[in-house]
Amino acid sequence: MLDQPPNRPALPPEIARRRTFAIISHPDAGKTTLTEKFLLYGGAIQMAGQVRAKGEARRTRSDFMQMEKDRGISVSASAMSFDFNEFRFNLVDTPGHSDFSEDTYRTLTAVDAAVMVIDGAKGVESQTRKLFEVCRMRDLPILTFCNKMDREARDTFEIIDEIQEMLALHVTPASWPIGQGRDFLGCYDMLNDRLELMDRADRNRVAETIEIAGLDDPKMADHVPPALLDKLREDVEMARELLPALDAQAVREGQMTPIWFGSAINSFGVRELMQGIGAYAPEPQPQRATPRQIAPEEEAVSGFVFKVQANMDPRHRDRVAFLRLASGHFRRGMKLTHVRAKKPITVSAPVLFLAADRELAEEAWAGDIIGIPNHGQLRIGDTLTEGENLRVSGIPAFAPELLQQARAGDPMKAKHLEKALMQFAEEGAAKVFKPAFGSGFIVGVVGQLQFEVLGSRIEMEYGLPVRFEGSQFTSARWVTGPHDKVEAFIAANKQHIAHDNDGDVVYLTRLQWDIDRVARDYPDITLSATKEMM
Ligand code: GDP
Repeated sequence: MLDQPPNRPALPPEIARRRTFAIISHPDAGKTTLTEKFLLYGGAIQMAGQVRAKGEARRTRSDFMQMEKDRGISVSASAMSFDFNEFRFNLVDTPGHSDFSEDTYRTLTAVDAAVMVIDGAKGVESQTRKLFEVCRMRDLPILTFCNKMDREARDTFEIIDEIQEMLALHVTPASWPIGQGRDFLGCYDMLNDRLELMDRADRNRVAETIEIAGLDDPKMADHVPPALLDKLREDVEMARELLPALDAQAVREGQMTPIWFGSAINSFGVRELMQGIGAYAPEPQPQRATPRQIAPEEEAVSGFVFKVQANMDPRHRDRVAFLRLASGHFRRGMKLTHVRAKKPITVSAPVLFLAADRELAEEAWAGDIIGIPNHGQLRIGDTLTEGENLRVSGIPAFAPELLQQARAGDPMKAKHLEKALMQFAEEGAAKVFKPAFGSGFIVGVVGQLQFEVLGSRIEMEYGLPVRFEGSQFTSARWVTGPHDKVEAFIAANKQHIAHDNDGDVVYLTRLQWDIDRVARDYPDITLSATKEMM
């Protein structure tokens, strides 16, 4: 059992056993493989490989997914739930490409911890580092898995040093690799003084565990050849001297990461990592909200939408809002209050995502992620409660860094294009600005790739050819201030003004000079590059 922080009541056991986390990694480090093995150990699927197989069956249905596959990136996030020992794991998938960082950021607002996967030969790569920065902003606890130890890997101390230095994070070895590449035998479990031996013959087999009474146990010699054993003893002795010991509190505060070594493809080290998630990743945490924070143990149910995915099934044109439950015990059919719209919403067909299948959720607890099919009422940042006027905060929207004019390939279809763009905007896939002057729409994204994805999706899902062309603007800023001042500002700057898909006022420009001028000439107006979704 985990220690509860002082002054907080014990969580109901159903909530205390939940661990909601995401995996962050650089493409190719092994996130998909590790996810499959999690599900395998979690008993959610019979055989590893199914996640990919099912995913691929679905992918062939659309060009967009084909593009995702060709580029080896995962664009759409999803959530998966499975049990492991006494725990319920909720794994939220993060998009792997940097162009989707806003989506990733929001995904990370819905988890209590992250598992960072690194490739043993490559160490901390660019994307790992970016994603880590996002975790750091929220002080998310991080558990590290150093993968591909069955291949030539870097020296263990070197890997640990790199993480410590590049990420300014204390690293404590939870396991220590014995050999590497062809000689990789397994790991010494530093937390339980056990030997974990890898079975190369059967990739889906759980590693053999041998209880050892410390490194000097003569039994070690029965399993580890002398040269490797000498090195292991030396390394572990040095590690215990030079590296900090595991401090659960420091892990919870995001100051220290325990690292496990293994090989996802050989199912090795995965079980120990999962035990580690159970032991060191925190149970559902309180959620920032206004006017007060929400504690998971509160009886009243509440939750917030961190992701919306449209057209998950192109045949149904449905839309699923992913809700992270912040508190309480949710039951199917509950009537909740949609706080922004001030309207009741009956959640009659919530879905839980078990492996690659969707299943109807009869109940869920704080920490869980449920999908709510809807027709567009639910947007990112929305809070649902049992009536109280609470709004979860801290879910940002970022000003796009690239702006382009969207044009329907067929001018007769401009109205349809507007509808499609709005839908993607609500999904969080792009920002759509309607200029106060002139016609058409300006679409804003974070990375160029998003235009391509949008283009293929609009064509696929709506049958509309679309062109993205250069826009006269390059920057967008949200405009806030006292109502009358904003009105006056709009009137005086019409050619720069647009409204975003939520109806908020935006200032468009191509010059930093303009932004500076506004700051100088309009002291009551604030131009900001982020806004809170709520
Ligand atoms: P992702 O892009 O992070 O999701 O990475 P994948 O899970 O798709 O893995 C990338 C490649 O590395 C695939 O070809 C995997 O088969 C391979 N791979 C994953 N884990 C291991 C491992 O432990 N050892 C080796 N040798 N290859 C691995």
